[in-house]
Amino acid sequence: MKTRIALIAHDKKKDDMITLAGEYLDFLKGCELSATGTTGGRLINELGLSVERKHSGPFGGDLQIGSLLVEGLIDCVIFLRDPMTPQPHEPDINALVRACDVHNVACATNLSSAHLVLSQLQAQAVAAA
Ligand code: PGA
Repeated sequence: MKTRIALIAHDKKKDDMITLAGEYLDFLKGCELSATGTTGGRLINELGLSVERKHSGPFGGDLQIGSLLVEGLIDCVIFLRDPMTPQPHEPDINALVRACDVHNVACATNLSSAHLVLSQLQAQAVAAA
């Protein structure tokens, strides 16, 4: 079964997300990806990834990802949050991170942890191939 990964980045972290995803491109091409609207659009347009796009975060996209997660349809969340900028949808962000904790789903909220999670998942995929 394909690894199911959700990708979300706040505006000032979107360039980091594109660079990160580019570094794991071959692995991510073999995964089932979902993303919030703007993040997903950039992943599709700039990297050619196939992504199920949800609404933009401030319009409920984080909650849609959270819903998939609660249904058991997400294995891992890469959520590059911007800790320096207030977000209008802070409650939605907290709800998604809480849902990860409730359901014990890996949630990487910064680049260092994202690298650890993606490199581990990539190694698992190589070992299973
Ligand atoms: P976006 O949403 O990818 O649509 O910008 C991310 C967020 O702000 O949570």
